[in-house]
Amino acid sequence: MKVDVLIVGAGGAGLYAALSAAEEAKGMEVAVLTKVYPTRSHTGAAQGGVNAALANVDPTDSEELHTFDTVKGSDYLADQKAVKYMCFEAPRIIREMEHMGVPFSRLNNGKIAQRPFGGASKDRTCYSADKMGHVMLHTLYEQCIKHDIKFLNEWFMLNIVHDGERLQGVTAINIATGEIQFIHAKAVILATGGHSRIYWGYTSNALGCTGDGTAAALRAGLPLKDMEFLQFHPTGLRKSAILVSEAARGEGGHLLNNKGERFMSKYAPEKMELGPRDLVSRSIMTEIREGRGFKDEEGREYVHLDLTHLGEEKIKSRLPQIRELTIDFEGIDPIKEPIPIKPTAHYAMGGIHTDVRCETPIAGIYAAGEAQCVSVHGANRLGGNSLLDIVVFGHVAGKEAVRYAEGTDFAKGGESKLQDDVKFIQELFDRESKETLGDLRDELGEIMFRHFGVFKNEKEMQEGYDKLKNLIERANKNLAVEDKSKVFNTDLQSLLEFYNLLEIADVLAYASLQRKESRGSFYRDDYPKRDDENFLYHSMISRNSDGSFKYEKGKVDLSLYEPAERKY
Ligand SMILES: Cc1cc2nc3c(=O)[nH]c(=O)nc-3n(C[C@H](O)[C@H](O)[C@H](O)COP(=O)(O)OP(=O)(O)OC[C@H]3O[C@@H](n4cnc5c(N)ncnc54)[C@H](O)[C@@H]3O)c2cc1C
Repeated sequence: MKVDVLIVGAGGAGLYAALSAAEEAKGMEVAVLTKVYPTRSHTGAAQGGVNAALANVDPTDSEELHTFDTVKGSDYLADQKAVKYMCFEAPRIIREMEHMGVPFSRLNNGKIAQRPFGGASKDRTCYSADKMGHVMLHTLYEQCIKHDIKFLNEWFMLNIVHDGERLQGVTAINIATGEIQFIHAKAVILATGGHSRIYWGYTSNALGCTGDGTAAALRAGLPLKDMEFLQFHPTGLRKSAILVSEAARGEGGHLLNNKGERFMSKYAPEKMELGPRDLVSRSIMTEIREGRGFKDEEGREYVHLDLTHLGEEKIKSRLPQIRELTIDFEGIDPIKEPIPIKPTAHYAMGGIHTDVRCETPIAGIYAAGEAQCVSVHGANRLGGNSLLDIVVFGHVAGKEAVRYAEGTDFAKGGESKLQDDVKFIQELFDRESKETLGDLRDELGEIMFRHFGVFKNEKEMQEGYDKLKNLIERANKNLAVEDKSKVFNTDLQSLLEFYNLLEIADVLAYASLQRKESRGSFYRDDYPKRDDENFLYHSMISRNSDGSFKYEKGKVDLSLYEPAERKY
């Protein structure tokens, strides 16, 4: 198969990239390849909203303030000009989506409504009740259908193939038939989403957020950036870790400890519950560690998110999905009782290194969305900035990939890589499993949560890394595909995803051990202070030819604001 511009991923980033590529492309074929049906992509789970300084609620808001809040929220690790670009693009792209038909909630005057969100100095988050991602994803998909964009639905990308300088194509399995193919492409955009599933059982992310594109990029020799930065969202449901959006606090929800105190007054006296996520997550864990949390019969520790004072009408109209999820997964109606919550692994700030044009160091390979690290979120993302990032940089990636593809032909070769993948998969079918995938996946989640959680230190991380190495060795030897059929083999897919998770966990653990400071979401008890002198850099990790990690330091763009202490 040959495609001029291939987009891997049909979440918000992939679909926006497809739309702008299709608009830019004259006579070139643009196709989207996705392992799940487009409208099942994880973007559909996004709840609270998307940021843009429209100034509809607070006329004093501006793109400059949005830029500053984002840089400050990132603990000064974001690249400042890239942040500025994103924040200045925000109003235009929100209006573009409004014109496509995204049904935003409205103010009484008919303008797009905006709510307060964590770490933002103004009410800046545009929303659609608490279903922002769902309505965005469906509208973007409708537009893709309207533009006749070709979809390869339920295809699983295995590897990226290049000749050291240029992209040649990708290998992928057609999940419906089990057939493995080499797809020639002039340009590919990796929009494969995040990898928080490395915290299996302790994450708000969908089952498919397994970092497949990120792991494939690493195998292809591309550098991954800032992988030690993974955000814990403060409010996951106690039992399932499913997200309760920041919108719940934006609408006025209170965090309470077992003494009934609004404990955020100690940690963020000004912003209270609307402090940035890293700070609120640490505050919750501190309350729990110091004995001011709750414990259920099964030993799960948590604090309360109280919405009862908001009243039935507000909860039903502004937070209907949160209410439904809490009833279904906790058996609690937030109109009547506080919600038991604890931090949940939520968002990967790190990812495939690109510049602001979404280009990786290999010509023809682009990345966008949560899989990509430009970086606009640095050490800690602000709520509402991911849905913005994915559409702004999805748009850029689509245009840039087409421009590149227009000026080039298909690179020759690469087909032989197909045989390596066929052989690897055949081996997985041929061998006997000695352990079960489910057990090992749970073990991965336990290792990551216990040793690379909200609070970290050298000893625990080193112990965790040793356990992880042992797990990787066992997984490589002891796991096999149990279901021997070819058609819709979810067993095979789950195993391939697990191998990707292990590669990502390995990088995250390695990168974490190198950073001897605390910054944003990355907090170490043994190095509790930010150390700009020694660690104000992007970590860049790729593989040496012997498989070991190569660790390099990337420069942070500080051209707009001097790093300062963060206070909220
Ligand atoms: C519960 C929840 C709520 C959130 N709420 C908000 C919010 O209110 N505001 C906000 O700004 N952010 C929010 N976020 C974050 C935001 O939703 C995500 O960061 C964003 O949607 C990621 O979009 P994406 O397009 O990069 O990836 P995704 O939407 O995850 O899409 C990834 C795509 O890649 C495809 N794919 C992956 N691997 C392969 C493979 N091997 N082969 C082929 N295809 C593949 C998948 O099929 C999918 O189509 C939330 C996150 C969660 C977990």
